[in-house]
Amino acid sequence: MFITFDEFDKKYDFFKFVVTTKEVDGKSREDMQSVCKKAGLNINNLTSNIQIHSDIVNTIDKNTISTKKEGDSLITNLKEVPLLVFTADCVPISLIDTKNKAIGLIHAGWRGTYEEISKKTILSMKNTYNSKEEDLIAIIGPSIGPCCYEVSKDLVEKFSEKFINLDENFYKIDNKRYMLDLWKINEYILKSCNIGEIINLNLCTVCNNDKFYSYRKDNKTTKRIATLLQLI
Ligand SMILES: [Zn+2]
Repeated sequence: MFITFDEFDKKYDFFKFVVTTKEVDGKSREDMQSVCKKAGLNINNLTSNIQIHSDIVNTIDKNTISTKKEGDSLITNLKEVPLLVFTADCVPISLIDTKNKAIGLIHAGWRGTYEEISKKTILSMKNTYNSKEEDLIAIIGPSIGPCCYEVSKDLVEKFSEKFINLDENFYKIDNKRYMLDLWKINEYILKSCNIGEIINLNLCTVCNNDKFYSYRKDNKTTKRIATLLQLI
């Protein structure tokens, strides 16, 4: 139903990080109820965005718990408020401030990546919770890897025009196919923010399609992986 990561659970006792597998659909309230119950997350406060492939960061405070606004990133420092993002190939990025105990959760497809939504989320956490870069850890969750993300030449060129310092390896040409590496670009953006630690789970949704939904591999499925992050 979902996976957790022992290494985080052992190291940090103030947040929970959960990624759902194909037995459940992130878009189903009923399924999310079962997941929250099993994982010990507070379903009553479950908060997500109306995702629109933007660079909008929504701050969740006491007055906005469980409200839905357009956007693709959420931040909070409230305990017992699980944040939720939906993905199926797009990149879910979790941010955890290990000192000030605040969290951020991001949906970054190519558009959000291009607009540097992770950098904007870090800035919001700095402004709102006084988070320091060195106290932040980022977790890059299951998403389409460089092994499987074929895009147009135009898109590769768009990225290379914007991220001029990014090394050439953010894409590969394989048999005339342009393979974009969203992991590498997001890692580059996170590194340029000087955050403390970046953990890439290195789980490609296409290669691991038995476990995770992939929009491309699952024939444009409407079902989604849920990434849930909650302070406890
Ligand atoms: Zn792959």
